[in-house]
Amino acid sequence: MSDVNRRQWLSRVGAAGVAAVAGTGSSAMGQEPGKPPQPVKPERLALEDFQPKSMLHVPETKVSQWRFPVIDVHTHLTFCARGKNGVPHGEEIKFLASPDDLLPVMDRKNIRLMVNLTGNHGKGLEEAIQRFQQAHPDRFMVFTEPGYDHFNRPDYPRWQADEIGRAHQAGARGLKVLKALGLYLREGVTSGPLVKIDDPHFDLMWESCAAFKMPVAIHISDPEAFFLPIDRFNERFEELNNHPDWSFHGRDFPSNRELLEARNRMFARHPKVAFIALHFGNNAENLASVSECLDRFPNMYVDLAARVGELGRQPRTARKFFEKYQDRIMFGTDAVPNGTMTPQQVFSDKLYEIYYRFLETEDEYFDYAPAPKPPQGRWQIYGLGLPESILRKVYYENAKRVLGIGD
Ligand SMILES: [Zn+2]
Repeated sequence: MSDVNRRQWLSRVGAAGVAAVAGTGSSAMGQEPGKPPQPVKPERLALEDFQPKSMLHVPETKVSQWRFPVIDVHTHLTFCARGKNGVPHGEEIKFLASPDDLLPVMDRKNIRLMVNLTGNHGKGLEEAIQRFQQAHPDRFMVFTEPGYDHFNRPDYPRWQADEIGRAHQAGARGLKVLKALGLYLREGVTSGPLVKIDDPHFDLMWESCAAFKMPVAIHISDPEAFFLPIDRFNERFEELNNHPDWSFHGRDFPSNRELLEARNRMFARHPKVAFIALHFGNNAENLASVSECLDRFPNMYVDLAARVGELGRQPRTARKFFEKYQDRIMFGTDAVPNGTMTPQQVFSDKLYEIYYRFLETEDEYFDYAPAPKPPQGRWQIYGLGLPESILRKVYYENAKRVLGIGD
């Protein structure tokens, strides 16, 4: 209803009310004798404007910091400066923050170490290592990434394996694989058929990681809803509407299941590599399936980055999962300094407080992101209330072991 129509409509209701008062002496506006009051019909509301406030009166626990040091295994402090059709290109990097921007928040939240996964390779990697890891060796760690723009050269498998060795020499502590593998990288780099995750061109790269004891942090596929049409049945409609480029429905995209199966074939072929399957094994909506994978692959770990929204809406299943796999789960947030495009990931005190509240308290029905509206789906979450023995492992000990950090 437009403003004008609404005003006209209200004035008619008002006039009827006055008539009723004049005729009967009743004090109820709009009420005819013997008839209940007519409810005022609400205006139609756009979904994007809907910001309901919970009327639940339940405890709110503020957890400012964990008593012991935390390792955040999943952050993005630098990125490859250039990309083509979703594939990172070249060695240049851009810095999203400096250590001085980050250290005060890290100190307040008791984060001992942040792992910058997207350190790129070559010259860019060296710069990232210099600025973060060399300047503050006990606070930052940098991972390298594949040089996909070299994928076409005939000696790519060897070159890539050697490049891992060079990255290790430069100080990189692990390898990060973006979802570009499986969803963007093509046989002609940006054209041709999509390259499969278990493509043998990468076998030497994985083995090189095992040889240098560099864990591989790997993002495969995306939430199941990203593979479905963006329609009224899609539970992540608003998120996909905000980021239509995150939709992998149609075209020549493989299904979520095909991507995970290709990943699993690759995991099976490389049992000596420690794989950190990011975003809760990239399948947080289906913990039974993540559980099967962890049982099958002793070399697989998961982090919880950007998935407290999923885990916190199934708190009973999630809690059992944390109990069973307490040695395989790592703390990660996917924090991006100034990352306003992804409200669930903006590096801030608030972001860490949400994660701590989720893991440590039994609070009910709270926001999973520091944002006015839940950005990944219209729901709220419940805390897991994990005991200290599990928290120690998830916050610190598991990462320390897998990343090879000394005391
Ligand atoms: Zn990430």
